[in-house]
Amino acid sequence: MKRKPHSNAFSGSSLDTLAQTETSFASGDAIIVNGKGSDVSNIKSLKGKAKRKLVTQKMIFSLLDVAKKNGSKDRVKGYYNTFHCQNKIDTANGRSYGKYCKNRFCTLCAAIRKAQIINKYLPELQKWKAPYFVTITAKSVHAKSLKKRMQDMNRGLRILTSKYRKRAIRGTNIKLIGIKSLECNFNPRDKTYNPHLHIIVKTKDMADILVKEWLQLCTPKFARSFGQKIIKIKDLEKQLIETIKYGSKVFTEPDVRKKGKKKEGSADIRNIYVVALDNIFEAMKGLRIFDRFGFNLPPNLLKNEAHSTLVTDFKEWVYDIKTFDWRNTKTGEFLTKFHPMFNLLVLLELGIDVEKE
Ligand SMILES: [Zn+2]
Repeated sequence: MKRKPHSNAFSGSSLDTLAQTETSFASGDAIIVNGKGSDVSNIKSLKGKAKRKLVTQKMIFSLLDVAKKNGSKDRVKGYYNTFHCQNKIDTANGRSYGKYCKNRFCTLCAAIRKAQIINKYLPELQKWKAPYFVTITAKSVHAKSLKKRMQDMNRGLRILTSKYRKRAIRGTNIKLIGIKSLECNFNPRDKTYNPHLHIIVKTKDMADILVKEWLQLCTPKFARSFGQKIIKIKDLEKQLIETIKYGSKVFTEPDVRKKGKKKEGSADIRNIYVVALDNIFEAMKGLRIFDRFGFNLPPNLLKNEAHSTLVTDFKEWVYDIKTFDWRNTKTGEFLTKFHPMFNLLVLLELGIDVEKE
């Protein structure tokens, strides 16, 4: 069920350079920049940002159409904000600063959010001797039942963790300790959605308890054992990056069942199913995607530092969709020198599926 993520818009994210930055505003020859900014000497990260901007920009037009047709004003507004995310960038002292939309459906912001979670949680999770990765899921649903199913899954996990917390207090069993991330896949062939929870727990016992209790809670009507998965974690950082997909994958194979049967060298066909993505974003609205259970982070990690700096020696860059890059407003110079792969461009031109389900 679980598939390896493609080398897509989320790849190439550098943890260092994804420190959250905020808007900046000009005043004469000086501007105030907020946040830590990103390191502009990190070329890989810069190009990753350009790639995510391109994907988001192309995808958001179609998402806007879908939201307009559905009459969902708040998502229309949200998609517009995402369209403008990081349109203007200021660079100063070797760092770049821009305004982030902070929306879940923005691949730029999702990458930052993901990096923040990893920076926060990896040091804690590294203290666990033998962590396990668990996927819990239930039968797929159609769009109309998606929100309820996601709510039920989040609630189901809370029921289990609270049950074992109480048992641990009474001394009759262990407490469940871990992190969870809610993700949703779309199956274009059946037009169904498969929300699932990616979980990392501290021990194998906890993984076994989770799956056993989950199957009992769901009953065979909603979940079967073959849908659940327990894996011993070998590379924690890699697993954590995979665990926190932060919502939904943008690219989907047209026929998930044929996955893995492709001939070597054959075209990698993937589409962006915008109607499905819009449904997923709508269903996820107001839901907690990422959470921890059974442990706390050290207090110093819970603080979010915000600081502003006044800079006088700065450059302004504006995003230009035609050249897939930010251009210097004075010199026309390119910021990232990103050149998209031909197959990405084809996918973004031809692979955006706007069909109604
Ligand atoms: Zn954004």
